[in-house]
Amino acid sequence: MSLFDISDRAAKYQADLLDFMESHIYPAEEVYERQMRESGDPHFQPPILEELKAEARRRGLWNLFHPHPEWGPGLTNLEYAPLAEIMGRSVIASEACNCNAPDTGNMEVLTLFGTDEHKEKYLKPLLEGTMASAFAMTEPAVASSDATNVELSMVRDGGDYLLNGRKWFASNAMHKNCKVLIVMGKTDPTAAPHRQQSMMVVPIDAPGVTVVRSLPVFGYQDREGHAEIEFEDVRVPAKDVLKGEGEGFAISQARLGPGRIHHCMRSIGMAERALELMCKRARSRSTFGKPISENANIQDWIAEARIEIEMIRLLTLKAAHLMDTVGNKEARTEIAAIKVAAPNIALKIVDRAIQVHGAGGVTEDFPLAMAWAHLRTLRLADGPDEVHKRAIARQELGKYRAAEAAATNGQKVTA
Ligand SMILES: Cc1cc2nc3c(=O)[nH]c(=O)nc-3n(C[C@H](O)[C@H](O)[C@H](O)COP(=O)(O)OP(=O)(O)OC[C@H]3O[C@@H](n4cnc5c(N)ncnc54)[C@H](O)[C@@H]3O)c2cc1C
Repeated sequence: MSLFDISDRAAKYQADLLDFMESHIYPAEEVYERQMRESGDPHFQPPILEELKAEARRRGLWNLFHPHPEWGPGLTNLEYAPLAEIMGRSVIASEACNCNAPDTGNMEVLTLFGTDEHKEKYLKPLLEGTMASAFAMTEPAVASSDATNVELSMVRDGGDYLLNGRKWFASNAMHKNCKVLIVMGKTDPTAAPHRQQSMMVVPIDAPGVTVVRSLPVFGYQDREGHAEIEFEDVRVPAKDVLKGEGEGFAISQARLGPGRIHHCMRSIGMAERALELMCKRARSRSTFGKPISENANIQDWIAEARIEIEMIRLLTLKAAHLMDTVGNKEARTEIAAIKVAAPNIALKIVDRAIQVHGAGGVTEDFPLAMAWAHLRTLRLADGPDEVHKRAIARQELGKYRAAEAAATNGQKVTA
């Protein structure tokens, strides 16, 4: 299938999802905000969300992300991309369709590397949307964008491992339904740098696990929460090591590929919504005798937004297409490129939409301020911009290294 073809089933899902957004999601946004406000609890699970989940399920708009037909519709990345984009237009849509991070990534890891027991105990309720999960890799004490720095110790003790250390920014760990953590730590600090790490499945209520605090993001307490977690002599049976000792780094690479591109797809949805709001607002208010939309600089912003959205959408689709056809590893440069481009461009568009809204733009009366805060974090989460750029630059420079090495060996080089 080429980038520009849409399969019949993908077209049907798109139409169904657009209808669900119009008929249920957008009207529910206000109810959601009210229920959250009235609860007084930033991590409250509002009833409207459970109603939306039931409706999404009834309509077959459930687990759309899952690539394995046994567990979801089995869509390709290229087929899923426009759906994730549509869900990205509203902060509540992804969870309503059970397609929200980090549960999606954790479900993929448990599908690929979990035991039958993990699948029964955790994967099934996650797929049912009755349980939530968190992924704990980043640590406050070390620069975690280099995952080899991770220090949480996992020391063998008979048939178990003892975990000691501290994690932070474990998203979703404050969710009312969060029952399980996938934790990355070090089982063998003497092994080769990428074989020192392992991943383990740890119940959040295991003795020795303490959720210390929920970290705010630009002052917002996100409903799912980003938790700082202390691990003190946490006993984990060896059967709960995923894939095997020393496989943690490899699993994190497998997990982060699809997760990264899903974030990009949703960012495009946010950018589209921001552009729509920017146009409507600019047309609806006037200054100095003419609508704000008649000013050349505002038209410039609108035009640039349209151009840039089309550009990041095409790059996202190309990355998705490569993931489907040559695999995540071969698509890594395009995944890295879009992981830098999509949040940055979406952030710029949201920022300009805020500007066009005047003071209203920074309030909660519009979804822009929260979208900005979220998009800004995506320049860090799942790897900071600079680390992805480093990977792209290394790939690019590698071409010349190979040519230079060949030249040094006296071979004919055609650069
Ligand atoms: C909202 C949010 C949610 C998150 N959710 C999760 C989660 O669920 N689970 C989880 O484990 N983590 C999560 N994270 C953490 C995120 O993955 C890390 O913040 C990220 O990997 C960077 O690690 P660090 O914060 O330790 O920054 P550091 O590694 O200390 O890096 C700091 C800065 O140094 C610069 N830098 C680093 N390397 C280079 C380089 N090679 N060249 C140039 N500059 C460089 C970059 O600008 C980088 O931002 C989340 C973060 C946020 C903000």
